[in-house]
Amino acid sequence: MKTISFGTSTLTGSRLAYGCWRLPETVQNESINPSSAAEACRIISAAMEAGYTVFDQADVYGQGKAESIFGVVLNQMKDIRDKICLITKCGIIPPSGTLAYRYDFSRDYILRSCEASLKRMGVENVDLLLLHRPDFLMNPVEVASAFDELKSSGKVREFGVSNFSMHQVRLLQDACTMRLVTNQLEISLCNTTCLTDGTLDFCMVERMTPMAWSPLGGGYLLNSEKGNSAAKRPAHIESLRTSLLEFSQKRGEEPEVVALAWLLKHPSGMMPVVGSLNPTRIANMTRADEMDLSREEWYGLLQAGLGYRLP
Ligand code: NAP
Repeated sequence: MKTISFGTSTLTGSRLAYGCWRLPETVQNESINPSSAAEACRIISAAMEAGYTVFDQADVYGQGKAESIFGVVLNQMKDIRDKICLITKCGIIPPSGTLAYRYDFSRDYILRSCEASLKRMGVENVDLLLLHRPDFLMNPVEVASAFDELKSSGKVREFGVSNFSMHQVRLLQDACTMRLVTNQLEISLCNTTCLTDGTLDFCMVERMTPMAWSPLGGGYLLNSEKGNSAAKRPAHIESLRTSLLEFSQKRGEEPEVVALAWLLKHPSGMMPVVGSLNPTRIANMTRADEMDLSREEWYGLLQAGLGYRLP
């Protein structure tokens, strides 16, 4: 797989990232037993062998379980830490008791969360820390101060955001001493909003490398039984799926590969975050890096994704 840089930084990684959100599905019961650790190792090894070097985590995935199990994997595959670009996120606080689901970008919370992530994964630092979802009460100066402290202590190399509008990026960037290198956004044939609302264009203006989460709509693009509630489900999903399957058959390629190749053609140089737990699919999807779509093909798939003809 090709290697790309995050924004204008020296941080690099594979063209496709591997997302660890679903890793806790390998954990039966509450504890990480040897069989779930072996399953997680099998999946991460498959991703490494296929050429993925970027691994996307968050403190909130499985309420810390995704990071803990990744820590077990890192401990068993001792030589991989230096070969990977490790990303984690913070800022989402799941509800507890009567307290509401909320976001927290206070300085204390960012520092505490990052410390806890490092501990769970058993690492000294992460390569990239992202703010997971915009905190409406964000004080950019406070965030910038937390970032400065994490950078100077060597705990985080680069910083970015996720699900931010362009104005939110601008607001934070103006307060930060370092360049934000990514905005991780929901982008797929099922959800093309970022293409039309200026978010991707703004990443290009700011020279940030966008990352595309749920690039297959959480699986819904290919299977109506799958998908996560966060991923948008277009009403015309059946016709979109049919168009994608017909096109893939014509090109003699798997539909998930085509869906990723469609994302990779965008000039922003976005990095899709693959979420499959299936080693064969994880490996197959790297073929997207080699697949070129013509303009006609790309717009044909966009039209299927939008569900209407462009004016
Ligand atoms: P995704 O790639 O859109 O969906 C993965 C799902 O699709 C898996 O359940 C997979 O099942 C299924 N799938 C793949 N190919 C299929 C096929 N041909 N037929 C049927 N099902 C198929 O990605 P995602 O897991 O939703 O998200 C990817 C990553 O994005 C996450 O791990 C996380 O790192 C990141 N993320 C970030 C945010 C954010 O707010 N920043 C939000 C959500 C996710 P199998 O396992 O069986 O292949």
